[in-house]
Parts: sequence; structure tokens; C-alpha cells
Amino acid sequence: MMNSWLDIPNDTDFTMHNFPFGIGEIDGNRHVVSRLGNYVINLSALYDLEVFNGITVEKSTLSSAFLNSFIEQGKSITVPVRERLIEFFGSSPKPDSTDFLIPEDQVHMKLPIKVTDYTDFYSSREHATNVGTMFRDPNNALLPNWLHMPVGYHGRASSIVVSGTDIRRPKGQQKPVENSPLFGSSKLLDFELEMGFVVGKSTDLGDSVSTSEAEDHIFGLALFNDWSARDIQSWEYVPLGPFLGKNFASTLSPWIVTLEALEPFRIESPEQDPEVLDYLKYDGKKNYDIDLFVDIITPEHHEVNTVCSSNFQYMYWNMCQQLAHQTVNGCNITVGDLYASGTISGKEPSSYGSMLELSWRGSKPLKMKDGSQRKFIKDGDVVRLRGRCQKGDVSLGFGICEGKVLPAK
Ligand code: MN
Repeated sequence: MMNSWLDIPNDTDFTMHNFPFGIGEIDGNRHVVSRLGNYVINLSALYDLEVFNGITVEKSTLSSAFLNSFIEQGKSITVPVRERLIEFFGSSPKPDSTDFLIPEDQVHMKLPIKVTDYTDFYSSREHATNVGTMFRDPNNALLPNWLHMPVGYHGRASSIVVSGTDIRRPKGQQKPVENSPLFGSSKLLDFELEMGFVVGKSTDLGDSVSTSEAEDHIFGLALFNDWSARDIQSWEYVPLGPFLGKNFASTLSPWIVTLEALEPFRIESPEQDPEVLDYLKYDGKKNYDIDLFVDIITPEHHEVNTVCSSNFQYMYWNMCQQLAHQTVNGCNITVGDLYASGTISGKEPSSYGSMLELSWRGSKPLKMKDGSQRKFIKDGDVVRLRGRCQKGDVSLGFGICEGKVLPAK
């Protein structure tokens, strides 16, 4: 691992290998920022120091309210910007002034992208099997289409919020006990441990993206919590799928980790049987070895309970297949689109990525350190997602993706 003239804590997510991108509010203005150790890096201030000379990026692009205009420059710009940061903090001498570095606790991180469209997939075989077993038939847990396509639905972009935003418990209709439906605040509020990828290159309506072209269109990844009200969801979802049980809020982490930073962590995907159709076939390693964790921080003494340890490599359908499927009918994609993986569960019960699965629909409550129990998420709980990669001495992390649940209005 490269050294830097900046002091970097050993256990940081923001190593010399990472250099993710985000939007930070500095002195009341939003800027494109990166991060190293405990410091946020103001890229527009580095621009003034001529660090990006020779890269055709405008200063105004680095002072935008969202990353979209930066990402839209394409990888021929964004990749050299990240490489220049590695060089500047690594092999270059320490500059006289370091005004471009701001302690991370002094920067308010904003939603990194203006989310243009949002799709949520359902691509973990273990998750789909668990849900199918609980709600339908243990002997036919997967519906007939599941092994042939990355199933997904179009979600709501307007209610995607950045980590740190409080989440209001939703109200809605719930399944009738007798004749008429119940109405009230959700009693079965849940998280879904997911990762999302951000599109960095648009297509025209009518065009398709092949699995081999897909990575050109993916800028990077972040952590994503698809908050879900199971009681609202289970009453509404037939026949058209998730709606008000999902769109009250979803939480995105503030740092987008680039595909280039994730390169060392590529790994083989699970074997797909039956064989997939031609447009879903792919070559090479398309999954990523990313350790994922979910913590529930209980309100009283703020104890951290790690309730799930999973890994992004468990995904049955990879991102390239998801993007190929999304566009196979000619559906266009746009810079700023967000594609979420679906809940990431592994084989072990401790790797299940939702309370629905962890508590097996409430039949196996989880014990918290403060002595309380959880079947689902209670008011005052903070749900925190974390993600980390390590290979030899190369490591990085995704920061945190968290939200505190407030009582219904
Ligand atoms: Mn989901």
C-alpha cells in the first residue's frame, strides 16, 4: 500500500487506494469532494492549485451541487482525476498550504447524485428463496422466471435520501384481519442490505447495453438501505409489486466508490444453472468481494449490535447482467440512474440481509445487548450499513449508510 505525506489511520475506509467521490457542503457551498483518512478533499480548491492541469475538467464542474455533471464527463476524465489524487497524496511533496483538506466532522455530506431513475433488483438467490419460502411455498420458493432473468421493479427516485437523514415510520393500509383493511403506522418496519451502482454513461432510447459494454456505463457503487414496511408491502404487492411499502424512504451512502478502485476485489460469480439466455452471458469476473455488515444501534445506551455479516459476492445476478437486462428492450439509461442489487443474503442465517429473514418473519426475535428484543425495527433505532474490501495490503471501505427511525407523524 502506498504511503502519503498525510497521516492516515490504519483502519480507515478511505485509504490511498480508495479516493471515492461525493458532494460536501463547505462554507455553505457544495463541492465535488473526495476523502483520505479523516479528511475531506475539496477538489475545486485542488483545481486552483493546478493539480488537475492537463485534464480537461472545468472548475464549475467541481463546484456542482451533484456529481452528475462530473460523472457525465466520462471515464476519460474521472479516471485520471482519481489517478492524479493518488499521485498528489502519494509521490508528490507535501504542499505549503493544505487549505483543500477539511476535517471530516466539519463537512456536511449531501446526496451525491441527483437520482434520475431508480431500479431495485431482487438478485440474491438466498434472499429470494427465503422470502418465497416464508410467503409462498418452501418446495417452489423461486418463481419460474427467477433463474432466467434478474427480476426487478422501477422504484421512486424522489425519496432517496443521504445517510444521516432521519426516517419517518410510514403509515398505510395493512391486510384485513376480517373484512376491511387496517390503517395505521407500520408495525413491521425493516431494512434491506443492498448495494447500488450509479450509471455514468447514458444511452439513447432503443439502444441496448451488452454485458461486455456494461462496465463502461457504471461509474461506481455505494451502500443502499431499501427501507421496507412489510405489513404495507404484503397487502399491496399483488399484482403490480412494491409501492408504498418501499417508497417512503431509501438511504444512500454519501461516497461513490469507483469501479476502478474495486478492480482488485473482483471475484467469480456463483454458477448459474440453468444456462442463461445469450444476452445474459458474460465473460470474466463480474462479482466483487465486499464484506457487508448491518448494525442496529439501540436508543437507550447506543449499543452497537451487529445483526448481519454478508458479502456482495453472493449475488446470483451481477451488475453487468442487470444492466443488460434493463436495456434489452431498448429502455434508455441516464447518467445519475441508480440500480440497487436487491437484499444481499448469504447461506448462513447470520448473513441474511433483512429483519424479515433474520427474525424469520418475527418467529425468532434477535437479542440486543441492552436486553431488549427485535423482530423488526423500533422507533429510535439507528440502522447502519457498512462495507469493506481487503486483499493483501490493499483495502478500502464505503463509509457508513445510516438512518434513525422516528415515530410516525
Ligand atoms: Mn429491495
